[in-house]
Amino acid sequence: MTQPLLSVKDLVKNFPVKGGLFRRTVEAVHAVDRVSFEVEAGETLGIVGESGCGKSTTGRCILRLIEPTSGAVWFEGKDVTALEAKALRALSRDMQIIFQDPYASLDPRMTVGAIIGEALTIHRLAKSAREHRDRVAQLLETVGLKPDHMRRYPHEFSGGQRQRIGIARALAVEPKLIVCDEPVSALDVSIQAQVVNLLEDLQQQFRLTYIFIAHDLSIVEHISTRVAVMYLGRIVEIAPSRTLYTNPLHPYTEALLSAVPIPDPKVKRRRITLEGEVPNPIAPPSGCHFHPRCPIRQLPLCATERPELKEGPDGHRVACHLRG
Ligand code: SF4
Repeated sequence: MTQPLLSVKDLVKNFPVKGGLFRRTVEAVHAVDRVSFEVEAGETLGIVGESGCGKSTTGRCILRLIEPTSGAVWFEGKDVTALEAKALRALSRDMQIIFQDPYASLDPRMTVGAIIGEALTIHRLAKSAREHRDRVAQLLETVGLKPDHMRRYPHEFSGGQRQRIGIARALAVEPKLIVCDEPVSALDVSIQAQVVNLLEDLQQQFRLTYIFIAHDLSIVEHISTRVAVMYLGRIVEIAPSRTLYTNPLHPYTEALLSAVPIPDPKVKRRRITLEGEVPNPIAPPSGCHFHPRCPIRQLPLCATERPELKEGPDGHRVACHLRG
């Protein structure tokens, strides 16, 4: 069996909550709670869930932009969580990120050429000023922009163009894995499809592997090979994309899917409205975190025991006492 490109095992991230006179840690936000998954080279793993479910924190912990509290992240057999600063910098060539807000993630004082070329300089990927300039021009063309855009500043571009600049910056170091952290959420619907199509084309062209984070199942449907659904810091279901969309097992996935519009007006889907709000991650519900909102909960079991992800056929895994 071949080794996966990325392996995440029991990843945990707690953020301390300070309080009292001496600003001591009094509580913790349980942002990521024993998350495990693997990503094969060349695939796209979609990670979906409501705001605050821990999907972006998971992506950032993998790259160590945020230090995980515990757990392991292996990339091509290397333990990422154990790397010293120098080795981590070298690994950042292989693992890149595209951020949600293309404007906030681009320094407004730098030209587009300087933004894209920065990583080329850091990793010494161009032997001369001319090679550096040619490479930046080539990257701009690769993402559908013009070489002379390198002299302009981020504010001179539309949201979609700025996201293309962010993609060119990530591509500059020829990465193997890109964490796409809600890359289209801030864009108009008409532009979203263009950026997703561009990412798909680039994946084919450069044999890229993606982790594609989104809050909406409809966005990840076409780009993902597999999809993981997160709720309050935990993965509740993970399956090949087609399986998840046609045969969801977890009641939370069913509710998310019921909100996805179907293009055929003759096909009607029953809308499932969940009770209540997403609970406070400082004090998540006991047992299955989803039990206060679950339409099929069985008490006291669901309120007392954490359901683990059970292995099913074709890699379809679900964390539910009653399903799978
Ligand atoms: Fe619902 Fe219980 Fe399954 Fe959780 S474990 S999803 S509460 S049935």
